[in-house]
Amino acid sequence: MRLILLGPPGAGKGTQSARFMQKYGIPQLSTGDMLRAAVSAATPIGLKAKAIMDAGGLVSDDIVVGIVADRIRESDATRGFILDGFPRTVNQAQALDAMLAEQHMDLDSVIELKVDEAALLDRIASRVQEMVAAGKPVRADDNPDAFKTRLDAYRTLTAPVSAYYEKKGRLRTIDGMAPADTVTEMIDEVLSHCVKA
Ligand code: ADP
Repeated sequence: MRLILLGPPGAGKGTQSARFMQKYGIPQLSTGDMLRAAVSAATPIGLKAKAIMDAGGLVSDDIVVGIVADRIRESDATRGFILDGFPRTVNQAQALDAMLAEQHMDLDSVIELKVDEAALLDRIASRVQEMVAAGKPVRADDNPDAFKTRLDAYRTLTAPVSAYYEKKGRLRTIDGMAPADTVTEMIDEVLSHCVKA
């Protein structure tokens, strides 16, 4: 099962990916998590990416495509994966097509979670409160200024990715405003029509 989850920041991609990772026993490949790990470890990629991420901008396609290309060759990804936060530009989507073709792989589904923009800021505010309450560190980009930049990047650079997959007849859209369990059921329903593994 090779799945892409698309949607703006705060749409619930991470929550849903974690559920399907368990269900299908395949890894969740979150480029945001991988980049945050690189920042924490102060790797050369992390050092380049930190300021851009903190401000809410997009890290360069070359860097992100390189990370994903390496990651999908790891052994736990041979049975499939859920991409969360990638591709985020049409360039990245084309690079993904090329890497999958090279490995004779195909995507099973591309699912977009649609969410009202007005709700997103509230969701991020709740995420910050939950992290604080749990004594966990708050993401440097979970603040109103960076969030606005993340949303702008989504509108201008990532929304065309949905159109890219729609043209290929691969896109399925789901109401991300529904309660999380309902969203899971709706994704399940879409996947039941395309599950190979
Ligand atoms: P969210 O979807 O909540 O905004 P992510 O955890 O997916 O957050 O990503 C956090 C940040 O990591 C992004 O704002 C961006 O700076 C960087 N990033 C993650 N994935 C990509 C990508 N595919 N291309 C470019 N930058 C990325």
